[in-house]
Amino acid sequence: MRTREIDQRSGEGRHMTSHRQLVQLPRGGMIIDTPGLREAQLWEGEDALGDVFDDIEALALRCRFSDCGHETEPGCAIKGALADGSLDPGRLQSYRKLQRELRAIAARSDARIRIEDRKRWKRLIMAARTRARP
Ligand SMILES: [Zn+2]
Repeated sequence: MRTREIDQRSGEGRHMTSHRQLVQLPRGGMIIDTPGLREAQLWEGEDALGDVFDDIEALALRCRFSDCGHETEPGCAIKGALADGSLDPGRLQSYRKLQRELRAIAARSDARIRIEDRKRWKRLIMAARTRARP
């Protein structure tokens, strides 16, 4: 495919595509390039996350706490699977990345999520400041 430079400041492309093309990737999956499409985005939300990462979701059900964040909680099945090598850390990273992406998409249309996220950030910053004090 022919490409053009990306704007250095905005990082945006400069409308190159003038036709539609579906590209089959060698390892499965497809990409569609179509005029006017500015960004690829997920559209199935939380359900899609569960479909793609059903192994991680199944593990999470076995955590001791139903609201486990899989960070420092005792009895975390995901941390256990990481420790015994049955779960690839890269896979968990991908799961978390996708989760953040889905949340960011949801936050664009949902003020409640935006407020929750802002509160969570405030708590994290306050906690970090408290820890930093001698
Ligand atoms: Zn857990």
